[in-house]
Amino acid sequence: MAQKRDYYEILGIPKTANVDEMKKAYRKLAMKYHPDKNKAPDAEDRFKEISEAYGVLSDETKRKQYDQFGHAGIDSKYSREDIFKNIHFEDFFGGGGSRGSGSIFDIFFGGGGGAREHRPQQGDDLIYKLQIPFKTAVFGVKRVVEILKTETCGVCGGSGAKPGTTPKTCRVCGGTGQVQRTQNTPFGRFATSSTCTACHGTGKIIEHPCTTCHGTGVVKRKKRISVKIPAGISSGSRLRISGEGEAGKLGGPPGDLYVDIYVSPDPIFTRDGDDVIIKQSISITQASLGSEIKVSTLDGEVKIKIPHGTQTGKIFRIKGKGVLHLHGYGRGDQLVVVTVKTPEKLTAHQKELLRQIAQSFGETTHSKSGSILDKVVNGVKEHL
Ligand SMILES: [Zn+2]
Ligand SMILES: [Zn+2]
Repeated sequence: MAQKRDYYEILGIPKTANVDEMKKAYRKLAMKYHPDKNKAPDAEDRFKEISEAYGVLSDETKRKQYDQFGHAGIDSKYSREDIFKNIHFEDFFGGGGSRGSGSIFDIFFGGGGGAREHRPQQGDDLIYKLQIPFKTAVFGVKRVVEILKTETCGVCGGSGAKPGTTPKTCRVCGGTGQVQRTQNTPFGRFATSSTCTACHGTGKIIEHPCTTCHGTGVVKRKKRISVKIPAGISSGSRLRISGEGEAGKLGGPPGDLYVDIYVSPDPIFTRDGDDVIIKQSISITQASLGSEIKVSTLDGEVKIKIPHGTQTGKIFRIKGKGVLHLHGYGRGDQLVVVTVKTPEKLTAHQKELLRQIAQSFGETTHSKSGSILDKVVNGVKEHL
């Protein structure tokens, strides 16, 4: 199949278009390519294409899904019926208000006997939110999650009928699951079809329902599922576990399970891509004279050298102590941001030593009690 075109491009609108702009664009194109007006051989295909684009973008949820995941996000999640069901012919062509009695798309998708509701459908997808600690995200882990979901009933095999009995063909729709109706439109009379209400589109009536699933063909149960969380995963990532969503309908395949990952913040480490950052304070003497200090890393403590004359804000890089590269080899680095800390409590002896250092720099100090600056500071306090 040819590559699908971008929906915005098909409608000729910018990504920021609002619903009104979208409607206008669709109306114009739909008028041009409506197969009853345009007899070009590709008109019908174009009409379907623009209708599909409009069907998706005019629905807020589907539009978000498309913006995020592209065509794959739509094709894996919605049937063509889901996409087309909200576009009402009357809204665009003013067809005399027979709202709710089907739409123009039945011409294309339902016309010939309406077997579509009848066929097996894939089950819904499930989303599970999983919070993991910072270090778990760095190194990866296997987690077992317990989810409540529907599975095909093992007793009746999903048919919904009591074992030993078979469902009867629906007499209202003759087993097609669809009932036909004719509709008048400005383009003429069209046969439209809608889901049979007697059998809900299944085409079958269950006279003796399975007692385990009460005729639904599915049972709800808790299931424990092992989830492999890859090393290096970041907050907001989504993991897909194929086939662990809700059970399919009428023997269709199950949906998928999506696990959304939330990484808890760590009190020491923060993350910048695959690098981790920590803040480390050092004393004025370590900063002045140089030293070797211990710092925490994700793998335990390591020693780093602080050269003499280190200033606040200096960053030291420890190679290979960061986050593991997702789906790859190697790791990021750890960055150590140092702050030179001024001592707050000093003994008389330490003060004396610092005073001597100050004098050697030719500075005057005020730490002898009764100095002019002490009086000023105290004076300020008294007036507060
Ligand atoms: Zn059953
Ligand atoms: Zn029926």
